[in-house]
Amino acid sequence: MMAGFTGGCLCGAVKYDTKQAPSVVANCYCDDCRRSSGTSHGTHLMVPEEAVIISGEVACYSSSADSGNMINRHFCPTCGSAVYTTNNNTKGLMFLRASSLDDLEVAKPQVQVYASRIPSWALIDETLPAFPEMPDPEAMQKMMGV
Ligand SMILES: [Zn+2]
Ligand SMILES: [Zn+2]
Repeated sequence: MMAGFTGGCLCGAVKYDTKQAPSVVANCYCDDCRRSSGTSHGTHLMVPEEAVIISGEVACYSSSADSGNMINRHFCPTCGSAVYTTNNNTKGLMFLRASSLDDLEVAKPQVQVYASRIPSWALIDETLPAFPEMPDPEAMQKMMGV
């Protein structure tokens, strides 16, 4: 199995190094991930916070999700690249953006959330489990077998 992986922002001021593989890789088509992504969705790699070392200063934009939970989007203040997200409701977890990976092959999406918002032009893998909105964590874990 793959061990850790690395990534960072466009200008190189923010870098990270993880000690383990992502436990879940999800495509999220919610409006907020889309607007901060550059395309129709964000691809997020879920890892425990304690397995990630971040270097460099990040800026943060927090907004409230449909659930009312605060979503904190961390990005490089110099180049603006999205690096990772945390959620006040899933303390201890980080969601690293696939766009920040050094090796893109690390991220193979396993699930799609907010699939009801996938645009007609997006190329999607029809075999992936898809939730129309954000599933509750237990439903997702059950489906993913994690
Ligand atoms: Zn940067
Ligand atoms: Zn999202």
